[in-house]
Amino acid sequence: MPPSVLVVGGGIIGCATAHALAKGGCRVTVLERDTPGGEASGAAAGLLAPLGESREPGPFQRLAVESWRLYPQVVAELGAATGMDVEHMTAGTLYPLFGHAEVEAARDRTTWPVAQEFGVALLEGAAVREREPALDAGIEAALLVAGDHWVNNERLVAAYAQAAAACGVVIRSGIEVSEILVEGSRARGVVAGGARIGADAVLLAAGAWSGHFSLPRGPGVPGDALPVGPVRGQILSVSNSPPLLGHAVHGRSVYLAPRPSGECLVGATVEHVGFVREVTDEALEHLIDEAVALVPAIGERSLLRSWCGFRPWAPDGLPILGPWPGVEGLFVATAHFRNGILLAPITAALVSECVLTGRVPALLLPFLPDRFISASA
Ligand SMILES: Cc1cc2nc3c(=O)[nH]c(=O)nc-3n(C[C@H](O)[C@H](O)[C@H](O)COP(=O)(O)OP(=O)(O)OC[C@H]3O[C@@H](n4cnc5c(N)ncnc54)[C@H](O)[C@@H]3O)c2cc1C
Repeated sequence: MPPSVLVVGGGIIGCATAHALAKGGCRVTVLERDTPGGEASGAAAGLLAPLGESREPGPFQRLAVESWRLYPQVVAELGAATGMDVEHMTAGTLYPLFGHAEVEAARDRTTWPVAQEFGVALLEGAAVREREPALDAGIEAALLVAGDHWVNNERLVAAYAQAAAACGVVIRSGIEVSEILVEGSRARGVVAGGARIGADAVLLAAGAWSGHFSLPRGPGVPGDALPVGPVRGQILSVSNSPPLLGHAVHGRSVYLAPRPSGECLVGATVEHVGFVREVTDEALEHLIDEAVALVPAIGERSLLRSWCGFRPWAPDGLPILGPWPGVEGLFVATAHFRNGILLAPITAALVSECVLTGRVPALLLPFLPDRFISASA
């Protein structure tokens, strides 16, 4: 009998990993409190930019680059399984640079080991506007990462959910998990909607809410909560018809993601304000001002919509992935912070490998939950 797995949370991490587990032969049920993709995964901008988010080459960049490499095949596979167009764009990102120090730091990035694979180039003077005429005339230098891509993340998470369902995953919406059941040193299932649901394994992928669960560490050992909480991001979109930009643009505090389906996203604030679901005038004003400073034509476009989401965040800013120590059959995949869309394919591949084989792939070692447990013990 193939193992049964309960996935707590139907965001992109839960749906992508459920899909991978079902392909590996597991019987999988996703338990989602609301709607799949209804939280951070639907709220994101969908930029897939591993170099922009890494200050230096290291374990995080390796994880992000591996996920970036998986994207073309993931998009093709999901398209074939669902017929959905997830608006996968591969036109690259421009990072405008201000001042000597930023230009020199960018020059250093052109020597990173992956620079050639990503088409990293420093543009100076006239080359900047030759590449992207919509940029403000005062921008005298920019780093081009030609290999960056982006997706329509709302469609992507829907595609993952549909592809998972087509592989036999049961997706239950509108059911809240209140407890993860551990007996002895084994996960046995969850309590959801007031009823016990049994399974051979449980994967906690509840995004910014993952810290709400008490996770036992074996017989007689009190439970720990993951140190995961929300970082609010406010974001808006303006009309992208006719198209404003040929690239994504990433400034100091805002980025622009033009979508072929007619909107250009302008994101996003990074706020430690708890679960306050509110879009503020101040934030919208800030986003628009900063966007206009980068691309003046934004100021002539109508505002289409604005929204916010809660990024799952751990104190070191890194994802928490892999087996929960001391409890067989309990796994976590959360805290992807600003990169959960980018990291979904590699998370699904590595975490499903842990569940299916019992082994932890080397790429996952720096992201195990143990790093927080040893710190608190
Ligand atoms: C404004 C903004 C812009 C972003 N831009 C980007 C970007 O450009 N690129 C990128 O890679 N990342 C981006 N991110 C980050 C990315 O969105 C997240 O890292 C990612 O979506 C996290 O996915 P998740 O599945 O862990 O969480 P979520 O999508 O939040 O999913 C968790 C799910 O768990 C469910 N849940 C919670 N508690 C329970 C419970 N008790 N029972 C059942 N279900 C439960 C929730 O309802 C939710 O659907 C952005 C985020 C925001 C907010």
